[in-house]
Amino acid sequence: MTSDSSNHEWTMKMLEKFKGETHFTGAPYIDFSRLETQELQLKADKSVERGKFKPHPQITNTYLAHPETIRALRPEILLAGDIDEFAESIPCPGCSRSLDKQFWIHCPYCESDLK
Ligand SMILES: [Zn+2]
Repeated sequence: MTSDSSNHEWTMKMLEKFKGETHFTGAPYIDFSRLETQELQLKADKSVERGKFKPHPQITNTYLAHPETIRALRPEILLAGDIDEFAESIPCPGCSRSLDKQFWIHCPYCESDLK
């Protein structure tokens, strides 16, 4: 099985970003310039943990995510819109997980509204 290493790298960065653990480390954030040339698709898959993204095993540029994760995600984030690399992470008022509020309409884990 061949894997697209650049896609893999992108996914890793995205996961790091979503975990909110790179905030003060100076690690590179998602390369959103790449998104402008790639159609990113998300497919609903309830076997994927909430808040996580898994590369689709067969389809390039397609990721699997829990339906609630997709629902919680701001749609414009997939369109290479204005991403603030230094946007603050906030603790979810419901479950206290660290969330980057530019990504989420509501918490992908517990569905609490983000203020
Ligand atoms: Zn929550």
